[in-house]
Amino acid sequence: MKKVITRFAPSPTGHLHIGGGRTAIFCWLLARHFGGEFRLRIEDTDSERSRQEYTDSILASMKWLGLDWDGELTYQSRRLDIYNAYVDKLIESGHAYWCDCSPEDVEAMREVARAKGEKPRYNGRCRERGLGPGKGRVVRLRVPDEGRIVFEDMVKGHIAVDAAELDDMVLRRADGMPTYNMAVVADDHDMGVTHVLRGDDHVSNTPKQILLYQALGFELPTFGHVPMILGPDKQKLSKRHGARAVIEYEQDGLLPQALVNYLVRLGWSHGDQEIFSLNELVELFDGTSLNSAAAAFDPEKLQWLNAHYLRETPPARVAEMVAPFVERQGAGLGREALEKLVPLYRERAANLVDLAADMALYQSGADIACEEKAAKFLTDEGKGHIAALREIFAALPEFDESSLEAAIHDYVEKGGLKFKQVGPPLRAALIGRAGGPSVHLTLCALGREESLRRLDRVLS
Ligand code: GLU
Repeated sequence: MKKVITRFAPSPTGHLHIGGGRTAIFCWLLARHFGGEFRLRIEDTDSERSRQEYTDSILASMKWLGLDWDGELTYQSRRLDIYNAYVDKLIESGHAYWCDCSPEDVEAMREVARAKGEKPRYNGRCRERGLGPGKGRVVRLRVPDEGRIVFEDMVKGHIAVDAAELDDMVLRRADGMPTYNMAVVADDHDMGVTHVLRGDDHVSNTPKQILLYQALGFELPTFGHVPMILGPDKQKLSKRHGARAVIEYEQDGLLPQALVNYLVRLGWSHGDQEIFSLNELVELFDGTSLNSAAAAFDPEKLQWLNAHYLRETPPARVAEMVAPFVERQGAGLGREALEKLVPLYRERAANLVDLAADMALYQSGADIACEEKAAKFLTDEGKGHIAALREIFAALPEFDESSLEAAIHDYVEKGGLKFKQVGPPLRAALIGRAGGPSVHLTLCALGREESLRRLDRVLS
């Protein structure tokens, strides 16, 4: 079998959105599954709308999702001569021709077609005029008058279009720039792409691109068009549905594994399995079982997956991911401290932002504000227990989990108390919260010096 080469070809006119992200994941998985190559191409020929900051953002999102690409990054803007050379070749072979019709002329032709109840299109006026290059002239493809363009879509199945439905499309604009279809075909061929998997907003371009492949004598790749992602209300996904860009999910503290798992499942299935490790996806994803119906975004399921990955990811890795969020909270906790806190908080946190907020409470020397629900435990009685325990904690030979647990247990037993008379005031003094991990774990995570400082602060 020929080496599988896939590509992702974003236009840098915005951040990577989840629909594009999902396409990129599919292309990456297909290449990895077959031990092939995954290429990345920046389609930046629209100089008005393309911006370097978006290219940077897309690359950052790709990295965050864990999608590494092979070979050099390709920029279309650096390949203009190559596209024009292909256009010249098509003119020479008679597959393309110069056209001097103005945009107004073309609009008038479309109007005429519409009036006749036909598909609005260019009427081929310049086909036989034998024009050469000149100011304001474009180059058009001579589309066959008859015949059918047929392909088997990886997702949508059999697709057939009559050539007569298609326009003599522009390949080179009046300003010398190639059009999207020209550039994409040239690139996909030159990069050796075997599988063109992309959003189904491009499905109508594919027959046109097939004509170009044929005119240039290129071997056709396999095409696949994945349906778009709809909002939870089954309408087109938009801003009002909340986050749409991959970067927004990152900023909201989602784990990349959760988003990858979620997006893959949103357009592909393997029985009714919901949770897939990346290795499993690579093993199972062969480009079949892609869903041809558009799927609706389900924020709750994404949260559920996120909670799952937050619990299952090794603490050291969670610590690494949460570190920048903790920093953003203005707290400076070392990696080791974070790693110790991960098991204490990950069960209750929905995302890295929440987790970081909990962890920030552990910064040494921090002046923790006590929430109202917790402050009510700091009564005279509560403070009495805090004062007594403070001395016990100070005198412990070892300030570790088991010694602390035993010390608190003893104190409660000997005093004939209930734990709830002692635990909540201690917790309030230590982290200013009414809820949280077991108090002995909190003490241990804070360390002796910081714990005593916080208890003293409440007593003074
Ligand atoms: N640049 C196109 C886009 O961002 C994708 C083109 C393609 O995959 O063929 O929609």
